[in-house]
Amino acid sequence: MKTYALERPRRMLNQLWTIQVQAGGQDAVVAADGIVKVLGVPLRLKDAGLEPGTAVHVWFDQTGECVCAAIDEIKRAKQALRDAEEAKEKQRREQRRQQLNAERTEAQKYNARITLPVRWDVGRWNTNRYHIYLLEPLTAGRLKRTQGDYLCGARSKTDNKWYDPSDTWLLDGDGNRFQPKVTCTACLALAQRWKWMKESS
Ligand SMILES: [Zn+2]
Repeated sequence: MKTYALERPRRMLNQLWTIQVQAGGQDAVVAADGIVKVLGVPLRLKDAGLEPGTAVHVWFDQTGECVCAAIDEIKRAKQALRDAEEAKEKQRREQRRQQLNAERTEAQKYNARITLPVRWDVGRWNTNRYHIYLLEPLTAGRLKRTQGDYLCGARSKTDNKWYDPSDTWLLDGDGNRFQPKVTCTACLALAQRWKWMKESS
C-alpha cells in the first residue's frame, strides 16, 4: 500500500488536533489544489499521485510524519491480508489432513503385519499405550490368555473395565475412524512368535 507524505502547516498545530489525528487517524478528501484538509487544518501533499476527489485516511506514521493513503487502497490491502491469512489457514488444515492420513496408512500397514491365530482388536487402558486386545482365548505353550485380555497381560489394578472400544479409535484427516498402531512393546514382543512362525513355515 502506497502512502503519501503530507506537509504540516508552518504554524504550531494545536494539541487537540494532534490527539484527534493520533487516535485512529482521520478521513479526508484530496482537494483540487493538492490540499488535504484534516479537521479544518490544510495539509499539502508533498508528492503527486493522488487525484483530486480521492478519499484518503490520514494518520501519523511511526516516525511521527503525517501521511495518508487512498481509502480504496487501504481496503484492498486489508482484504489481501485477510485472503493471505485464509490461504495460510487452508494450507495448514490440508497439511494436518495429509499428516493424519499418513498416520492412518502407517498404522494400518503396521498392524497388518501382526498375525495372531485369534481375532484381536486394539485396546487402551488409561494411558496412550495401545495394546493387542484379544477377542478370543489364546493358548500357546505357557502363554494362556482369555478373551478380553491384553496379549501382554496388563490389566487395571483398580477395576476390570480396561477396554473401551470407543476409546481405541483415532480419526484420520477426513474424519474416518482407524485402528491406532499397537505401541505396547510387551504385546508386540509376544506377537513376534506368530510372525516368526508364519515367516518360517
Ligand atoms: Zn500390552
